[in-house]
Amino acid sequence: MACNICSGRRFSAWRGRSGEQCDTCGALARHRIALAVYQLHLFEKGGREKQLGNMRVLHLAPEPSLHPILLRKFGAGYVCADASPDRYPHADCLKLYFPGDFKIFPDRYFSAIIHNHVLEHIPGHYGDHLLEFSRLLKPGGRMIFTVPGPYANQKTIEGGEKLESDAAREETFLQADHFKLLGADFVEFIDQMPGGRRIADGITDELRAQLNVRPKKAPFFIWEKSME
Ligand SMILES: [Zn+2]
Repeated sequence: MACNICSGRRFSAWRGRSGEQCDTCGALARHRIALAVYQLHLFEKGGREKQLGNMRVLHLAPEPSLHPILLRKFGAGYVCADASPDRYPHADCLKLYFPGDFKIFPDRYFSAIIHNHVLEHIPGHYGDHLLEFSRLLKPGGRMIFTVPGPYANQKTIEGGEKLESDAAREETFLQADHFKLLGADFVEFIDQMPGGRRIADGITDELRAQLNVRPKKAPFFIWEKSME
């Protein structure tokens, strides 16, 4: 059992969840799974590049544990962006509000788009956001992302940006800066999104155990835009 980001073998509890955080590099369970997913669906040798040419990868809210790995991998083709770049001092991060500011990028610009726990912070409807990401993807490009939950037994609740206090948001959306709780319709929307298909993340509980991640933890969405 070891961290796949730094090979560390000691883990501590984080927000009450035992073994969640790597003591050495600080990666959380979902970051360790993220790297495993990128190894399967983004780094395949000769795979993506062969199909798509030079890779151009957009990473929103670039996590400190994953950022150096992606930078090493994609070099000048690696673009980081966030509405609050100050939160990511380790990265050279463009200050851009999604979706409006992303009009600066033409259609089919990125070979891959990565965002983890980002959609729930964006005001507006998730469907509009997913379609805008789809616009930005090259044919054959992949969006690889996670959200809290999603909560399979309920419908999505949105509109946190219209609530007047952090306390009200915390009560409805579980965190003061969350604007939505994503539910079953979110997953259906991805499955039915035109112009592409969802791919299974391929992560097994056996692999999770090797990474000190509990069963079923951190399901990833991978959506691939069709080749034309
Ligand atoms: Zn580590």
